[in-house]
Amino acid sequence: MSEPRWIADEMVGRLARYLRFLGHDTEYARGLDDDEIARRAVAEGRRLLTRDRDLARRVPGAVLLTARDIQGQLRAVRAAAPSASFEVAFTRCTLCNALLAPWTPPASGPWPREVPRRGGGPDLLVYACVACGHLYWEGSHTARVRREVAAWLAAAE
Ligand SMILES: [Zn+2]
Repeated sequence: MSEPRWIADEMVGRLARYLRFLGHDTEYARGLDDDEIARRAVAEGRRLLTRDRDLARRVPGAVLLTARDIQGQLRAVRAAAPSASFEVAFTRCTLCNALLAPWTPPASGPWPREVPRRGGGPDLLVYACVACGHLYWEGSHTARVRREVAAWLAAAE
């Protein structure tokens, strides 16, 4: 089973962010014209996620998203990739799509202000984006995303 690779057009940026939460390799095509989006999708073997019917028609394997809401869009993506995982995973940066790696707390110097110190820290798994350095860890935010995604995917059509 190969992981799905997506390229999301400008109109579905929120969906792109959630797919990255789920660990899906998702390029966000911000500021690109239709020709460039179509070219990249083919060149990089990515399936296009778009709300633009004409653009979807031009790109083989494109997923036309008719829903305006994130719930409907996510369900459409799952229908297009039924064997992919739709569980929150700490594998990709939601900001830039690069991979995450386990983060090692600083041996000396200040603790990053944004990372909670849970009982001194060793039980808190923190991940850092290898490209932009953004930090991720399990917390109320990830719990909320898990609940949201589960509810959206379980909701009736
Ligand atoms: Zn990043």
